[in-house]
Amino acid sequence: MTDWASVEAVEEAAENWTDNQIECRLYGHNWRNHTVTHRPGQYTVTQRCPKCRVRRWQRISESGYPLSSWHADYSSAGAYLLKGKGRVGQDGKAILRIGIFKNMSIIEEPDE
Ligand SMILES: [Zn+2]
Repeated sequence: MTDWASVEAVEEAAENWTDNQIECRLYGHNWRNHTVTHRPGQYTVTQRCPKCRVRRWQRISESGYPLSSWHADYSSAGAYLLKGKGRVGQDGKAILRIGIFKNMSIIEEPDE
């Protein structure tokens, strides 16, 4: 069962997140290959998101097939996680979306 973080918990945590970190939460990471290591039988590829610096890694066989799922590594991402508060649900995402808009210059348009 998924535990959803309360809107208050999301708002509080988001105070410590950069706009880039919030954008990654809303729209996904911009994964780029970072390093690849090899040992007999397998490669380990590490990818990094340049926007928020989160990393993930996966083991790949010599012939290119995944041997593991992706493992996220948030250790370089500072206060990115909502520790023990649950996942960000639709209500939390709504708060984050509007929060991002407040840091942008909003162009007012007349009603159509
Ligand atoms: Zn990211």
